[in-house]
Amino acid sequence: MFVRAIDREVLDLLLEMGRSSSPDEFIVMLGSEKGVITTVYPIAGTTVTSDSATIFMDMVPLGMQIAGTAHSHPNGALWPSDADLQTFAETGQCHIIVGDPFEADSWRCFDREGREKSLEVVSA
Ligand SMILES: [Zn+2]
Repeated sequence: MFVRAIDREVLDLLLEMGRSSSPDEFIVMLGSEKGVITTVYPIAGTTVTSDSATIFMDMVPLGMQIAGTAHSHPNGALWPSDADLQTFAETGQCHIIVGDPFEADSWRCFDREGREKSLEVVSA
């Protein structure tokens, strides 16, 4: 299913997670229903350091509807690193980066190839 939108509460949660994790990164998986991202899945076995966050895909439960990933850039850069592009290509169609200062517009969404992707913000 084509992911076209994100629930405003999920976006607010991602920004809050970015704020509270800083100066470290966080990374989560995103679940969607009917093309709208509605769920955040913390991933067990995720390695998080101040400059990298890696998902071990083996840890993702079978049957999860994965829209993509979300992670933070405490340095405020709203574009993917080379490591991010590798992660993006592995799963999902929608990859959100939130960055310092983690305000309402401190985020962008990218597709698997790392191209910026528009995502509507909706209220469920
Ligand atoms: Zn990154």
